Amino acid sequence: MTRFSARLEALPKYPLTGIAAAKLRLRAAGVDLIDLGAGDADGPPPQGTIGELVGSLGDVAMHKYGFQLGLPRFREAAAAWMGRRFGLQVDPAHELLPLIGSKEGLAHLALAVVDPGDVVIVPEPGYQAYIGGAVFAGGEPHLVPLEASRGFLLELDQLPEAVLARTRLVYVNYPNNPTAAVAPRDYLERLVACCRRHDIVLAYDNAYSDITFDGYVAPSILEIPGAREVAVEFFSMSKSFQMTGWRLGFAVGNPEIIAALAKVKSYVDTGAFQALQHAAAWTLDHAESLIPPMRTELQLRRDVAVAALREIGLPVASPQGAMYLWVPLPAGIASADFATSALEAEGVMVLPGSGFGAAGEGFFRIALTVPPARLREAITRLGRVIAQLLAAQPVSA
Ligand code: PLP
Repeated sequence: MTRFSARLEALPKYPLTGIAAAKLRLRAAGVDLIDLGAGDADGPPPQGTIGELVGSLGDVAMHKYGFQLGLPRFREAAAAWMGRRFGLQVDPAHELLPLIGSKEGLAHLALAVVDPGDVVIVPEPGYQAYIGGAVFAGGEPHLVPLEASRGFLLELDQLPEAVLARTRLVYVNYPNNPTAAVAPRDYLERLVACCRRHDIVLAYDNAYSDITFDGYVAPSILEIPGAREVAVEFFSMSKSFQMTGWRLGFAVGNPEIIAALAKVKSYVDTGAFQALQHAAAWTLDHAESLIPPMRTELQLRRDVAVAALREIGLPVASPQGAMYLWVPLPAGIASADFATSALEAEGVMVLPGSGFGAAGEGFFRIALTVPPARLREAITRLGRVIAQLLAAQPVSA
Protein backbone atom coordinates (compact mmCIF):
# COMPACT_ATOMS: atom_id res chain seq x y z
CA MET A 1 0.00 0.00 0.00
CA THR A 2 1.20 3.52 -0.70
CA ARG A 3 2.71 5.20 2.32
CA PHE A 4 1.59 8.80 2.57
CA SER A 5 3.45 11.65 4.19
CA ALA A 6 3.13 12.24 7.92
CA ARG A 7 1.93 15.75 7.16
CA LEU A 8 -0.92 14.42 5.03
CA GLU A 9 -1.84 11.82 7.65
CA ALA A 10 -1.87 14.57 10.30
CA LEU A 11 -4.79 16.25 8.58
CA PRO A 12 -8.38 15.13 9.14
CA LYS A 13 -10.66 14.74 6.12
CA TYR A 14 -11.56 18.19 4.80
CA PRO A 15 -15.04 19.10 6.13
CA LEU A 16 -16.63 19.86 2.75
CA THR A 17 -15.14 16.78 1.05
CA GLY A 18 -18.33 14.70 0.98
CA ILE A 19 -20.77 17.45 0.05
CA ALA A 20 -20.73 17.23 -3.75
CA ALA A 21 -21.18 13.45 -3.75
CA ALA A 22 -23.94 13.55 -1.11
CA LYS A 23 -25.84 16.14 -3.15
CA LEU A 24 -25.62 14.01 -6.28
CA ARG A 25 -26.79 10.92 -4.39
CA LEU A 26 -29.79 12.61 -2.78
CA ARG A 27 -30.87 14.43 -5.93
CA ALA A 28 -30.61 11.19 -7.91
CA ALA A 29 -32.89 9.62 -5.29
CA GLY A 30 -35.46 12.36 -5.93
CA VAL A 31 -34.95 14.17 -2.60
CA ASP A 32 -36.01 17.85 -2.56
CA LEU A 33 -32.61 18.92 -1.26
CA ILE A 34 -32.08 22.32 0.35
CA ASP A 35 -28.36 23.02 0.40
CA LEU A 36 -27.26 25.34 3.20
CA GLY A 37 -23.80 23.75 3.33
CA ALA A 38 -20.99 25.48 1.45
CA GLY A 39 -20.79 29.28 1.33
CA ASP A 40 -21.63 29.35 -2.33
CA ALA A 41 -24.49 31.74 -3.11
CA ASP A 42 -27.23 30.71 -5.52
CA GLY A 43 -27.10 33.69 -7.90
CA PRO A 44 -24.94 34.24 -11.00
CA PRO A 45 -21.93 36.55 -11.20
CA PRO A 46 -22.78 40.07 -12.41
CA GLN A 47 -23.96 40.19 -16.04
CA GLY A 48 -21.28 42.73 -16.89
CA THR A 49 -18.61 40.45 -15.46
CA ILE A 50 -19.71 37.61 -17.70
CA GLY A 51 -19.83 39.98 -20.68
CA GLU A 52 -16.27 41.14 -20.02
CA LEU A 53 -15.07 37.55 -19.76
CA VAL A 54 -16.76 36.49 -22.98
CA GLY A 55 -15.54 39.61 -24.78
CA SER A 56 -11.93 38.96 -23.78
CA LEU A 57 -11.82 35.36 -24.94
CA GLY A 58 -10.96 36.29 -28.51
CA ASP A 59 -7.78 38.01 -27.36
CA VAL A 60 -4.92 35.52 -27.77
CA ALA A 61 -2.85 37.27 -25.10
CA MET A 62 -5.45 36.30 -22.50
CA HIS A 63 -4.72 32.63 -23.07
CA LYS A 64 -1.03 32.84 -22.20
CA TYR A 65 0.59 32.18 -18.83
CA GLY A 66 -0.10 35.05 -16.46
CA PHE A 67 2.81 34.22 -14.12
CA GLN A 68 2.76 35.88 -10.71
CA LEU A 69 2.59 39.34 -12.25
CA GLY A 70 -0.78 38.47 -13.72
CA LEU A 71 -2.72 41.04 -15.67
CA PRO A 72 -1.46 44.49 -14.61
CA ARG A 73 -4.99 45.82 -15.13
CA PHE A 74 -6.26 43.47 -12.39
CA ARG A 75 -3.57 44.60 -9.96
CA GLU A 76 -4.41 48.22 -10.72
CA ALA A 77 -8.17 47.70 -10.33
CA ALA A 78 -7.64 45.90 -7.00
CA ALA A 79 -5.37 48.67 -5.73
CA ALA A 80 -7.83 51.35 -6.87
CA TRP A 81 -10.65 49.47 -5.08
CA MET A 82 -8.56 49.38 -1.88
CA GLY A 83 -8.25 53.15 -2.23
CA ARG A 84 -11.97 53.76 -2.70
CA ARG A 85 -13.14 51.12 -0.23
CA PHE A 86 -10.73 51.69 2.66
CA GLY A 87 -8.95 54.95 1.84
CA LEU A 88 -5.65 53.05 1.54
CA GLN A 89 -2.87 53.67 -0.94
CA VAL A 90 -1.53 50.39 -2.22
CA ASP A 91 1.35 49.89 -4.65
CA PRO A 92 -0.13 47.43 -7.19
CA ALA A 93 3.31 46.17 -8.23
CA HIS A 94 4.79 45.39 -4.81
CA GLU A 95 2.05 45.35 -2.19
CA LEU A 96 -0.50 43.25 -4.08
CA LEU A 97 -0.56 39.75 -5.56
CA PRO A 98 -3.26 37.98 -7.62
CA LEU A 99 -4.32 34.62 -6.16
CA ILE A 100 -6.08 31.57 -7.58
CA GLY A 101 -8.77 32.07 -4.94
CA SER A 102 -7.86 33.44 -1.53
CA LYS A 103 -7.77 29.91 -0.05
CA GLU A 104 -4.72 29.10 -2.13
CA GLY A 105 -2.86 32.17 -0.87
CA LEU A 106 -3.85 31.62 2.76
CA ALA A 107 -2.53 28.06 2.71
CA HIS A 108 0.62 28.83 0.70
CA LEU A 109 1.60 31.76 2.93
CA ALA A 110 2.65 29.33 5.65
CA LEU A 111 5.24 27.80 3.30
CA ALA A 112 6.81 31.24 2.97
CA VAL A 113 7.08 32.15 6.65
CA VAL A 114 6.89 29.00 8.80
CA ASP A 115 9.77 26.64 9.59
CA PRO A 116 9.30 23.16 11.03
CA GLY A 117 8.47 23.48 14.71
CA ASP A 118 7.22 27.07 14.53
CA VAL A 119 3.83 27.69 16.08
CA VAL A 120 0.94 28.82 13.88
CA ILE A 121 -2.05 30.26 15.73
CA VAL A 122 -5.32 29.04 14.28
CA PRO A 123 -8.84 29.98 15.39
CA GLU A 124 -11.23 27.17 16.24
CA PRO A 125 -13.90 26.93 14.96
CA GLY A 126 -12.40 28.28 11.79
CA TYR A 127 -11.73 27.97 8.09
CA GLN A 128 -9.81 24.73 7.75
CA ALA A 129 -7.33 25.93 5.11
CA TYR A 130 -5.37 27.58 7.93
CA ILE A 131 -4.57 24.24 9.55
CA GLY A 132 -3.70 22.81 6.15
CA GLY A 133 -1.18 25.58 5.53
CA ALA A 134 0.35 25.20 8.97
CA VAL A 135 0.70 21.43 8.75
CA PHE A 136 2.06 21.39 5.19
CA ALA A 137 4.73 23.86 6.27
CA GLY A 138 5.75 21.60 9.16
CA GLY A 139 4.42 24.11 11.67
CA GLU A 140 2.65 23.29 14.89
CA PRO A 141 -0.97 24.52 14.81
CA HIS A 142 -1.97 26.03 18.13
CA LEU A 143 -5.75 26.06 18.23
CA VAL A 144 -7.40 28.96 20.03
CA PRO A 145 -11.08 28.46 20.85
CA LEU A 146 -13.36 31.29 19.77
CA GLU A 147 -15.94 31.74 22.50
CA ALA A 148 -19.36 33.34 22.25
CA SER A 149 -18.78 35.07 25.60
CA ARG A 150 -15.81 36.94 24.06
CA GLY A 151 -17.56 37.86 20.84
CA PHE A 152 -15.71 35.02 19.08
CA LEU A 153 -12.56 37.17 19.03
CA LEU A 154 -9.14 35.52 18.92
CA GLU A 155 -7.32 37.41 21.69
CA LEU A 156 -3.70 36.87 20.74
CA ASP A 157 -2.17 38.82 23.61
CA GLN A 158 -3.87 36.57 26.14
CA LEU A 159 -1.93 33.50 25.02
CA PRO A 160 1.03 32.38 27.15
CA GLU A 161 4.29 34.23 26.43
CA ALA A 162 5.99 30.89 25.84
CA VAL A 163 3.59 30.18 22.95
CA LEU A 164 3.86 33.68 21.49
CA ALA A 165 7.66 33.47 21.58
CA ARG A 166 7.53 30.44 19.25
CA THR A 167 4.75 31.80 17.01
CA ARG A 168 5.53 32.78 13.44
CA LEU A 169 2.07 33.19 11.93
CA VAL A 170 -1.49 33.87 13.05
CA TYR A 171 -4.65 33.51 10.97
CA VAL A 172 -7.48 35.91 11.81
CA ASN A 173 -10.78 36.21 9.96
CA TYR A 174 -13.53 38.82 10.44
CA PRO A 175 -16.32 38.96 9.35
CA ASN A 176 -15.88 35.41 10.53
CA ASN A 177 -16.62 32.03 9.08
CA PRO A 178 -18.35 30.20 10.73
CA THR A 179 -19.38 32.35 13.72
CA ALA A 180 -20.35 35.45 11.64
CA ALA A 181 -18.68 37.65 14.30
CA VAL A 182 -17.17 41.00 13.34
CA ALA A 183 -14.11 42.67 14.86
CA PRO A 184 -14.15 46.04 16.63
CA ARG A 185 -11.36 48.44 15.76
CA ASP A 186 -9.78 48.38 19.23
CA TYR A 187 -9.49 44.60 18.89
CA LEU A 188 -7.62 45.01 15.60
CA GLU A 189 -5.29 47.51 17.24
CA ARG A 190 -4.49 45.03 20.05
CA LEU A 191 -3.89 42.33 17.47
CA VAL A 192 -1.49 44.39 15.37
CA ALA A 193 0.37 45.59 18.47
CA CYS A 194 0.84 42.01 19.67
CA CYS A 195 2.06 40.82 16.26
CA ARG A 196 4.57 43.68 16.11
CA ARG A 197 5.77 42.99 19.66
CA HIS A 198 6.38 39.32 18.93
CA ASP A 199 7.37 39.56 15.27
CA ILE A 200 4.40 37.44 14.17
CA VAL A 201 3.10 37.50 10.60
CA LEU A 202 -0.58 38.40 10.60
CA ALA A 203 -2.67 36.75 7.88
CA TYR A 204 -5.91 38.70 7.93
CA ASP A 205 -8.62 36.87 6.01
CA ASN A 206 -11.13 39.43 4.75
CA ALA A 207 -13.06 37.16 2.36
CA TYR A 208 -16.35 38.58 3.68
CA SER A 209 -15.26 42.24 3.69
CA ASP A 210 -18.39 43.35 1.86
CA ILE A 211 -20.94 40.92 3.17
CA THR A 212 -22.12 43.15 5.99
CA PHE A 213 -25.50 44.21 7.32
CA ASP A 214 -27.29 47.00 9.21
CA GLY A 215 -24.89 49.60 7.85
CA TYR A 216 -21.83 47.95 9.42
CA VAL A 217 -18.66 48.59 7.37
CA ALA A 218 -15.90 46.01 7.80
CA PRO A 219 -12.42 47.55 8.02
CA SER A 220 -9.18 46.49 6.39
CA ILE A 221 -6.48 45.43 8.84
CA LEU A 222 -4.19 47.75 6.88
CA GLU A 223 -6.14 50.73 8.23
CA ILE A 224 -4.53 50.04 11.62
CA PRO A 225 -1.30 52.04 12.07
CA GLY A 226 1.73 49.74 11.91
CA ALA A 227 -0.16 46.87 10.27
CA ARG A 228 1.91 47.05 7.09
CA GLU A 229 4.95 45.95 9.06
CA VAL A 230 3.42 42.56 9.85
CA ALA A 231 0.21 41.94 7.94
CA VAL A 232 -0.97 40.49 4.68
CA GLU A 233 -4.68 40.70 3.98
CA PHE A 234 -6.60 38.27 1.78
CA PHE A 235 -9.52 39.31 -0.41
CA SER A 236 -11.76 37.13 -2.54
CA MET A 237 -13.89 37.69 -5.62
CA SER A 238 -15.95 34.66 -4.54
CA LYS A 239 -18.38 35.95 -1.97
CA SER A 240 -18.97 39.62 -2.84
CA PHE A 241 -19.59 38.91 -6.52
CA GLN A 242 -20.85 35.31 -6.55
CA MET A 243 -17.76 34.15 -8.43
CA THR A 244 -16.74 31.16 -6.28
CA GLY A 245 -15.91 28.87 -9.18
CA TRP A 246 -13.71 31.43 -10.89
CA ARG A 247 -10.97 30.97 -8.27
CA LEU A 248 -9.75 34.51 -8.04
CA GLY A 249 -8.63 36.66 -5.14
CA PHE A 250 -5.71 38.83 -4.13
CA ALA A 251 -3.35 39.45 -1.24
CA VAL A 252 -2.39 42.94 -0.11
CA GLY A 253 0.11 44.06 2.47
CA ASN A 254 3.73 44.02 3.55
CA PRO A 255 5.80 43.97 0.33
CA GLU A 256 8.42 41.53 1.66
CA ILE A 257 5.78 39.02 2.70
CA ILE A 258 3.96 39.52 -0.62
CA ALA A 259 7.21 38.84 -2.50
CA ALA A 260 7.82 35.72 -0.39
CA LEU A 261 4.33 34.42 -1.15
CA ALA A 262 4.87 35.13 -4.86
CA LYS A 263 8.08 33.10 -4.71
CA VAL A 264 6.28 30.09 -3.19
CA LYS A 265 3.52 30.37 -5.77
CA SER A 266 5.96 30.63 -8.67
CA TYR A 267 6.92 27.01 -7.86
CA VAL A 268 3.37 25.69 -7.71
CA ASP A 269 1.29 27.72 -10.18
CA THR A 270 1.77 29.95 -13.17
CA GLY A 271 -0.95 32.46 -12.50
CA ALA A 272 -4.74 32.67 -12.76
CA PHE A 273 -6.38 32.66 -16.22
CA GLN A 274 -5.89 36.21 -17.46
CA ALA A 275 -9.36 36.47 -19.01
CA LEU A 276 -10.76 35.97 -15.50
CA GLN A 277 -8.46 38.69 -14.20
CA HIS A 278 -9.66 41.00 -16.98
CA ALA A 279 -13.33 40.44 -16.05
CA ALA A 280 -12.55 40.69 -12.33
CA ALA A 281 -10.89 44.08 -12.92
CA TRP A 282 -14.12 45.33 -14.49
CA THR A 283 -16.04 43.89 -11.54
CA LEU A 284 -13.90 45.68 -8.95
CA ASP A 285 -14.27 48.92 -10.92
CA HIS A 286 -18.04 48.52 -10.51
CA ALA A 287 -18.09 47.18 -6.95
CA GLU A 288 -20.04 50.14 -5.57
CA SER A 289 -23.05 49.39 -7.76
CA LEU A 290 -22.76 45.57 -7.75
CA ILE A 291 -22.51 44.93 -4.02
CA PRO A 292 -25.57 46.69 -2.50
CA PRO A 293 -28.23 44.44 -4.13
CA MET A 294 -26.37 41.32 -2.96
CA ARG A 295 -26.14 42.77 0.54
CA THR A 296 -29.84 43.66 0.65
CA GLU A 297 -30.83 40.15 -0.41
CA LEU A 298 -28.54 38.49 2.15
CA GLN A 299 -29.76 40.76 4.92
CA LEU A 300 -33.35 39.79 4.10
CA ARG A 301 -32.37 36.12 4.19
CA ARG A 302 -30.59 36.66 7.51
CA ASP A 303 -33.70 38.25 9.02
CA VAL A 304 -36.01 35.52 7.75
CA ALA A 305 -33.71 32.74 8.94
CA VAL A 306 -33.03 34.26 12.36
CA ALA A 307 -36.77 34.70 12.99
CA ALA A 308 -37.55 31.16 11.83
CA LEU A 309 -34.78 29.63 13.95
CA ARG A 310 -35.97 31.48 17.03
CA GLU A 311 -39.49 30.19 16.33
CA ILE A 312 -38.25 26.61 16.47
CA GLY A 313 -36.53 27.37 19.78
CA LEU A 314 -32.95 27.98 18.65
CA PRO A 315 -31.67 31.24 20.18
CA VAL A 316 -29.40 32.40 17.36
CA ALA A 317 -27.74 35.83 17.29
CA SER A 318 -28.43 38.14 14.34
CA PRO A 319 -24.98 38.78 12.86
CA GLN A 320 -23.63 41.95 11.23
CA GLY A 321 -21.48 40.15 8.70
CA ALA A 322 -20.62 37.04 6.67
CA MET A 323 -23.20 34.85 4.96
CA TYR A 324 -23.72 32.39 7.80
CA LEU A 325 -25.70 31.77 10.94
CA TRP A 326 -23.89 29.95 13.73
CA VAL A 327 -26.67 28.25 15.57
CA PRO A 328 -26.44 26.75 19.07
CA LEU A 329 -27.95 23.27 19.44
CA PRO A 330 -29.94 22.13 22.45
CA ALA A 331 -27.77 20.38 25.07
CA GLY A 332 -27.14 16.74 24.35
CA ILE A 333 -27.46 16.88 20.55
CA ALA A 334 -24.12 16.25 18.85
CA SER A 335 -23.64 18.48 15.81
CA ALA A 336 -22.55 15.63 13.50
CA ASP A 337 -25.65 13.57 14.44
CA PHE A 338 -27.83 16.60 13.83
CA ALA A 339 -26.30 17.35 10.41
CA THR A 340 -26.58 13.70 9.36
CA SER A 341 -30.23 13.47 10.44
CA ALA A 342 -31.05 16.79 8.77
CA LEU A 343 -29.64 15.51 5.50
CA GLU A 344 -30.87 11.95 5.52
CA ALA A 345 -34.30 12.45 7.11
CA GLU A 346 -35.22 15.91 5.81
CA GLY A 347 -32.96 16.66 2.84
CA VAL A 348 -31.43 19.76 4.43
CA MET A 349 -27.69 20.18 4.22
CA VAL A 350 -26.09 22.14 7.07
CA LEU A 351 -22.56 21.86 8.40
CA PRO A 352 -21.90 20.43 11.86
CA GLY A 353 -19.94 22.74 14.15
CA SER A 354 -17.49 19.92 14.82
CA GLY A 355 -16.43 20.13 11.15
CA PHE A 356 -14.78 23.45 12.02
CA GLY A 357 -12.77 21.91 14.87
CA ALA A 358 -13.66 20.46 18.26
CA ALA A 359 -14.47 23.90 19.68
CA GLY A 360 -17.31 24.15 17.14
CA GLU A 361 -19.23 21.34 18.88
CA GLY A 362 -22.66 22.38 20.11
CA PHE A 363 -23.34 24.51 17.02
CA PHE A 364 -24.25 24.06 13.38
CA ARG A 365 -23.74 26.44 10.46
CA ILE A 366 -26.34 27.60 7.99
CA ALA A 367 -25.21 29.33 4.81
CA LEU A 368 -27.71 31.90 3.51
CA THR A 369 -27.50 30.44 0.03
CA VAL A 370 -31.16 30.00 -0.87
CA PRO A 371 -34.08 32.46 -1.15
CA PRO A 372 -36.19 33.35 1.91
CA ALA A 373 -39.06 30.92 1.24
CA ARG A 374 -36.65 27.98 0.91
CA LEU A 375 -34.84 29.07 4.08
CA ARG A 376 -38.15 29.04 5.95
CA GLU A 377 -38.95 25.59 4.56
CA ALA A 378 -35.48 24.30 5.51
CA ILE A 379 -35.79 25.60 9.05
CA THR A 380 -39.25 24.06 9.48
CA ARG A 381 -37.64 20.74 8.51
CA LEU A 382 -34.76 21.35 10.94
CA GLY A 383 -37.33 21.92 13.69
CA ARG A 384 -38.67 18.40 13.06
CA VAL A 385 -35.15 16.98 13.29
CA ILE A 386 -34.51 18.71 16.62
CA ALA A 387 -37.83 17.48 17.99
CA GLN A 388 -37.03 13.90 16.97
CA LEU A 389 -33.51 13.98 18.42
CA LEU A 390 -34.77 15.47 21.68
CA ALA A 391 -37.52 12.87 21.91
CA ALA A 392 -34.92 10.12 21.43
CA GLN A 393 -32.76 11.40 24.31
CA PRO A 394 -32.74 9.20 27.41
CA VAL A 395 -34.86 10.66 30.18
CA SER A 396 -32.51 11.74 32.97
CA ALA A 397 -33.20 10.40 36.44
N1 PLP B 1 -11.66 32.52 3.85
C1 PLP B 1 -12.80 32.15 4.41
C2 PLP B 1 -13.04 32.47 5.84
C3 PLP B 1 -13.75 31.43 3.68
O1 PLP B 1 -14.88 31.04 4.27
C4 PLP B 1 -13.48 31.11 2.34
C5 PLP B 1 -14.42 30.31 1.54
O2 PLP B 1 -15.39 29.78 2.01
C6 PLP B 1 -12.26 31.53 1.80
C7 PLP B 1 -11.37 32.23 2.57
C8 PLP B 1 -11.85 31.15 0.41
O3 PLP B 1 -12.41 31.86 -0.57
P1 PLP B 1 -11.88 31.72 -2.08
O4 PLP B 1 -13.03 31.26 -2.84
O5 PLP B 1 -11.39 33.10 -2.43
O6 PLP B 1 -10.75 30.74 -2.08
